[in-house]
Amino acid sequence: MNVLVINCGSSSLKFQLINSESEKVLAKGLCERIGIDGRLTYQPEGGDKAVSDKAMPTHTEAIQFVIDALTDAETGVVKSLDEIGAVGHRVVHGGEKFASSVVITDEVKAAIEECNDLAPLHNPANLIGINACEKLMPKTPMVAVFDTAFHQTMPEKAYMYGLPYEYYDKYKVRRYGFHGTSHSFVSKRAAELAGKPYEEMKTIVCHLGNGASICAVENGKSVDTSMGLTPLEGLVMGTRSGDIDPAILEFIAKKENLDITGLMNVLNKKSGVQGLSDGLSSDFRDLEEGANNGNKCAAIALSVFCYRVAKYVGSYVAAMNGVDMIAFTAGIGENSGTVRASVMEYLKYLGIGIDAEANAKRGEEIVISTPDSKVKVMVIPTNEELAIARETVALV
Ligand code: ADP
Repeated sequence: MNVLVINCGSSSLKFQLINSESEKVLAKGLCERIGIDGRLTYQPEGGDKAVSDKAMPTHTEAIQFVIDALTDAETGVVKSLDEIGAVGHRVVHGGEKFASSVVITDEVKAAIEECNDLAPLHNPANLIGINACEKLMPKTPMVAVFDTAFHQTMPEKAYMYGLPYEYYDKYKVRRYGFHGTSHSFVSKRAAELAGKPYEEMKTIVCHLGNGASICAVENGKSVDTSMGLTPLEGLVMGTRSGDIDPAILEFIAKKENLDITGLMNVLNKKSGVQGLSDGLSSDFRDLEEGANNGNKCAAIALSVFCYRVAKYVGSYVAAMNGVDMIAFTAGIGENSGTVRASVMEYLKYLGIGIDAEANAKRGEEIVISTPDSKVKVMVIPTNEELAIARETVALV
């Protein structure tokens, strides 16, 4: 079956058409500037990338252009819509309502809408994508795959905040966690590669991309993760602060005369390694180059980032009372040997040894720990689209 995987943002839409038998990407692309003007990037497997300006007043036009491109007589990869068996939608927040992926119905859409409050930037956009697809492909089954669902197995002690209980009762203020599709995909692959049953393995997944989170997966279940009610908590990220003393908000608000919107903008968009590097960059390639050229703030940003990762890994070793494998994934995790090596420096006490030659490799599935290492350390590239396609096929 061919599955169309859709990741819809407020003004953008990423897509991949994946054949579920071969697990090959038949075509992929991106619609940008939806509601502004519109641009389609489309690339069939083995073909050239084509970028074209198209009028996209709404997501419906954007998806129509995606369908047109996929079925185009020359550069298309299917003859007609009939060859697309299902659509898998990434949905950011499933609240406490969704502990797994679901086939989309009117009730499911209503339940997703009820989670809008928890992810006001993402969920409404995800719903717009679902509605636009339903309009253009009314007979095709659709599945929602949630970023939060994998973490619904966390115990209370991991998801409750030290706040008045009534905020949980009334508003469901708690830790949800994100990147669930990736943490699930990578931890399953970790068990396969270790040759151990998934249900008997303790894995710590470090998903280090522009957004970054860590997850403790014990016996096939997420038992803790670093992101919280929103993706702002936890690690120091590209532009997000991660954990800070909450009292800093009041302090900075007074000093800089900022309201809560202004403060949230600072925490989400101007902080993280971008902020720490004094505005140099949120991209680790720039930071590593900067640090190598003696830029002090770039070096500070890198060291704060790695230290925070190591502290979380250490705390999850405690949470699970041990660890069998530590897996690095996403843009930084897959590509930066420097980051991996400096994180692992802190974890030598676990009996971890790192093979410098293996660790110098980039973007491939590889064991980077030494054979005598007490804990296996691996790079396992993530593939969220493939994971969404698999979930979709399993449900339809
Ligand atoms: P997201 O999906 O959250 O946008 P990615 O997982 O694609 O992020 O990761 C993007 C980040 O990966 C970039 O911002 C950059 O910091 C980092 N990155 C990508 N390639 C490299 C590389 N070769 N070396 C170091 N960092 C890299």
